[in-house]
Amino acid sequence: MTKQQYRVVYPLLAGWIQKTLAEHSTVARPVASLGFRRLPLYYDEELLAVAKAVPVAKVPVPPLSAMGLTGLDAFERMEMGGMTFFDTYFVRADLAGVESLHFHELIHVVQWRALGSEKFLACYADGLERFGYLRSPLELMAFRLQRRFEREAEPFSVEAACQEPLQELPNNGRPRRYTSGRA
Ligand SMILES: [Zn+2]
Repeated sequence: MTKQQYRVVYPLLAGWIQKTLAEHSTVARPVASLGFRRLPLYYDEELLAVAKAVPVAKVPVPPLSAMGLTGLDAFERMEMGGMTFFDTYFVRADLAGVESLHFHELIHVVQWRALGSEKFLACYADGLERFGYLRSPLELMAFRLQRRFEREAEPFSVEAACQEPLQELPNNGRPRRYTSGRA
């Protein structure tokens, strides 16, 4: 994706996200109210009070190809367990009780906050394009910490654990091709 392409796509994507969140705002619940026992040991109280979960039968995925972002159709067709936009994430209703899924989506909330939406989306789309879903840098960060959450009993601060990998993102979140100015 070039910088120019992203300039065209970003407002469409941001608009779709706003609209999708607005449509579900009445069923969004603060994560702090969901009764999970381990999440408060890994995330700040403030983040869990602000972050919201929306249980849905099917997680909404942005219509990227209709917006002109080609080559990401595999991602568009994926049956997602969860997906995060700003401080709100959608979770498939049948998985809504799985604490490690909430743990994973909350890592994306931390990433959105650290990068801001324009950088987050650029970095996410660029990662998908270059590495695929599972190996894209923002997902890799989330899956690594999620594995730690699932395998180790010792709590850790997710925000602190995200600092270094966030710094190591190309251009601090802006994918190389986004900042290079090449068409
Ligand atoms: Zn993820």
